[in-house]
Amino acid sequence: MLPEIADSLDFQKLRFERRLQRERAARLEAEAIAERGLRELYEKQRQLELLETIATASNLSTSIEDAFDLAIKEVCRFMDWPLGQAYIVDRGGQDPRLEPSHVRYATDEDALRPMIKATTAASFARSEGLPGRVFASATPIWLKCLATDRNFPRADAAAACGIHSGMAFPILVGREVAAVVEFFSYTEQEADTELLTLLGHIGIQLGRVIERKQAEDRLIHDASHDGLTGLPNRLLFGDRVDRAVARAKRTFDEYCAVLFIDLDRFKLVNDSLGHAAGDDLLVEIAQRLNGVLQRHSTAHTLARLGGDEFTVLLEELDSPDKAMQIGELLIDALRTPILIDGQEIYAGASIGVANITGTEQSPATVLRNADLAMYSAKSLGRGRVELYDTGLHHIAVERLRLEGDLRRALTNNEFILHYQPIVSLETHDIVGFESLLRWQRGPQDIVLPGDFIGTAEDTGLIVLIGGWVLGEACRMLASLQARYPRPEPLTMSINISPRQFMQPDFIEQVRRAVLTSGVEPCSVRLEITETVAISDPERTILVLAALREFGVRISLDDFGTGYSSLNYLHRLPVDALKIDRSFVARLGLTVEGTQIIRTILDLAENLKIDVVAEGTEQEGQIRKLTEMGCHFAQGYYFSKPVASADIEALLGSSTSLSAETN
Ligand code: C2E
Ligand code: MG
Ligand code: MG
Repeated sequence: MLPEIADSLDFQKLRFERRLQRERAARLEAEAIAERGLRELYEKQRQLELLETIATASNLSTSIEDAFDLAIKEVCRFMDWPLGQAYIVDRGGQDPRLEPSHVRYATDEDALRPMIKATTAASFARSEGLPGRVFASATPIWLKCLATDRNFPRADAAAACGIHSGMAFPILVGREVAAVVEFFSYTEQEADTELLTLLGHIGIQLGRVIERKQAEDRLIHDASHDGLTGLPNRLLFGDRVDRAVARAKRTFDEYCAVLFIDLDRFKLVNDSLGHAAGDDLLVEIAQRLNGVLQRHSTAHTLARLGGDEFTVLLEELDSPDKAMQIGELLIDALRTPILIDGQEIYAGASIGVANITGTEQSPATVLRNADLAMYSAKSLGRGRVELYDTGLHHIAVERLRLEGDLRRALTNNEFILHYQPIVSLETHDIVGFESLLRWQRGPQDIVLPGDFIGTAEDTGLIVLIGGWVLGEACRMLASLQARYPRPEPLTMSINISPRQFMQPDFIEQVRRAVLTSGVEPCSVRLEITETVAISDPERTILVLAALREFGVRISLDDFGTGYSSLNYLHRLPVDALKIDRSFVARLGLTVEGTQIIRTILDLAENLKIDVVAEGTEQEGQIRKLTEMGCHFAQGYYFSKPVASADIEALLGSSTSLSAETN
């Protein structure tokens, strides 16, 4: 072969071999890339599967523990790490702490015992140890070498099990860390950022489980609790009573009782100071009641049934009297005034007690009995505790019937007014009348206010009835003034109930009645009691001032029987005091009896207001009152209250009365 040809062949072979080499290298590289890509793809696939498994399980799980349990197990398997542990944030104490939960995964409990023991005995503050640091930073943390870490208190235990690396991530609800999970590995492992991102996603999934559970718990709580006070509501209370009644049927050595609490003056506060003040009052009352129960009872449920009705279920009582004693303590707790909007409010309560005896009752009966006892406490004078007895049932039925009858009486025009003269002690002339409500139930059946006014007040019917009284009394006054003209026109005193006075449009009602009748406002006298005056002094003063501005006069009725409003009487714009007849009755009988009347007369003189003595029955009383300088009197001595038709006889011939004419 020619040397040139041989050279050229060698050269070509060389080129060919080089090309082959290059191609092999390129193929190897391509293969390596493909393999790496596949591996990455495979890894991604595994990660996705893990995330999916955990997400699905989280969505399906009904308990937080189940979801955590599965997630920890799956993560351990995925990473081939032997130990995983969950911690829950406990916010009960002063500073929140991470407490180990019993949700844990360990491939070999025996081999890992030292670490498990150290973990279960631990509890971590913020920034303390691995979980504490995750808690503080709310981000995942990876510790490659536990033995050299300065903030890993369980290093000895980890070393004893041959654990080298650890990692933990937070479970977030919103931005708050609700839990932390940690994992440990036998081999020393570099931090894997991709893995940490994945675990972050798992943390979010598990956070959603907690969130969902919290929302469910809230729903359940809301359905069974009162929104304002946070106390159990009617539903939950009924349930507890149910169980107490069932238990009482089985056991005989412990006593249970239900207390029904009704606030004496809540409606007044609510109507006068507004709902926000009413709400504040209820919250404060709930706290006071709770305070007493915490101190004096071992097992109780305090509930708010709605409005101003609170109930208590007392269990594990050592004697049947204990419920009454606790009732007294609850009343005491409400005796001290409560400060709302800078005003002192005396809430006061009436309590009914029904013992659960286990012989008869359904839960509804127990509650009804306590309610009846409460009504009886109220009617016996408020601020008391009454025990249910079977007679009360009868009374309650009567009360209900009365309420129905009163409603009918109003539509059937069965209410009438009687009039009792008010007489000048100087001249014995009739200066005016007090209108007194009567219920004409039948031709011969006249019911006095004492028998129905309480129920009318409780049910709110008094507002309608009182409105009618205002109009009717003013009409009568106009007619009397027209028939019996005087230099000093006759006056009409009209009783105003507390509930009526609290109506937001009360002033307007009075104006309308007076203007419609055409009488001069100054001949109308509104009688209010001290209860009205004391319940909300500031508003009372404003309303009274507006009424006087309009021209009507104000009398303080039954003076001396209520709370003593002496200390702020000077601020109260009133024109007259009516001395209650209980004081007049004691006049001349005892030194004190006389002294009290003298004090009232002195007081009135100082304040330059009139005094009317109520319930004067005897000549001696008239004499004494005149001597003492009392201006006016009203009572059987002069005349009983009479029907409108009989006024003629009083005013017709002479207007001067020296003794009762009928
Ligand atoms: P009150 O305003 O103090 O009325 C005086 C009560 O004493 C009347 O009783 C009257 O009949 C009675 N009385 C008068 N003189 C004598 C007497 O010499 N001896 C005795 N033992 N009693 C005498 P009544 O008519 O039964 O009314 C009782 C209460 O009912 C009234 O006390 C008043 O608080 C309330 N009342 C009466 N009418 C109305 C009304 O229209 N609206 C409201 N809200 N309450 C009314
Ligand atoms: Mg009166
Ligand atoms: Mg009176």
